Amino acid sequence: MLTRLSDEPVAGVGMGNVTLLRLDRVGGLAPGNKHFKLMGNLARARQLGVTRLVSFGGAWSNHLHALAAVGAEQGFATAGIVRGDDDQPETAMLADARKWGMEIVRVSRSEYRRRFDESYLDDIRSRYAPCLLIAEGGANLDGVRGCMAIAHQLQLQMPAARTVVLPVGTGTTLAGLAAGLDGACEIIGIAALKGARDMESRVRDMLDALDVSPTARWQILHDYHCGGFARASDGLREFMLAFERVQGVALEPVYTGKMLYAIHQRLRSGQWAPTQPLLAIHTGGLQGRRGYSWLQA
Ligand SMILES: *Cc1c(COP(=O)(O)O)cnc(C)c1O
Repeated sequence: MLTRLSDEPVAGVGMGNVTLLRLDRVGGLAPGNKHFKLMGNLARARQLGVTRLVSFGGAWSNHLHALAAVGAEQGFATAGIVRGDDDQPETAMLADARKWGMEIVRVSRSEYRRRFDESYLDDIRSRYAPCLLIAEGGANLDGVRGCMAIAHQLQLQMPAARTVVLPVGTGTTLAGLAAGLDGACEIIGIAALKGARDMESRVRDMLDALDVSPTARWQILHDYHCGGFARASDGLREFMLAFERVQGVALEPVYTGKMLYAIHQRLRSGQWAPTQPLLAIHTGGLQGRRGYSWLQA
């Protein structure tokens, strides 16, 4: 589904010629890019004959939220290993995940840090065996394969799209698009993390591991993180409130808000012309809005 943005000024500057691909409307109980990453992992679980899915995330994780949702929808048992201390209050995300049947295991921050450590992962695998253990954020090659379906949707819905903009966390979604789009397209990722200079090489490694040499050009812009991951600047907050009011499209500040704010800043500075057609991907994550009092109008 596509939404053409209005060019009515947002915080003094029009949004130019932007069309949104609304992944926030695609994917059942928990829509967005995490749904696509999980479709690739579910295909793997079915192939392996495994009916339990286990993964990691924070107390507001879009990924665990989507995992609990697809587990409930498609008949998989799920367990979520959640970063944080037991005295932290229950979040709306965790309440949804429990409601959808996810077993929540809260671990200390120090235990959570071991989530890339093979011996720790083996312990988890044997505790939940038989299970498929999915990397934090769904950031694995099956996740990239799942995200190639986003490229397919984009080509069906907007075959004329040439410049595609999306927010970037681990780069899994960007890698799926680079693998799935053709040489007529340029992909521009907006980094949600500060100083993540290894992001490009991680995307290249994922594409190499899939044995794909993309023809689409891609790049990641690193100047629009607004202070770092899950941080929000005053400028971002003002922009998001104005954008939502003018456009009637909800955003969240971790990813989609930063991407549209980046587009807005580049239009304002003249780096992008207001006539240039941009296809921006709304990657969802709107469950996370509930964690921000300033967004509750
Ligand atoms: C996780 C997430 C992203 C980042 O996706 P990556 O594949 O990790 O780069 C972007 N937008 C939203 C809403 C997300 O939840």
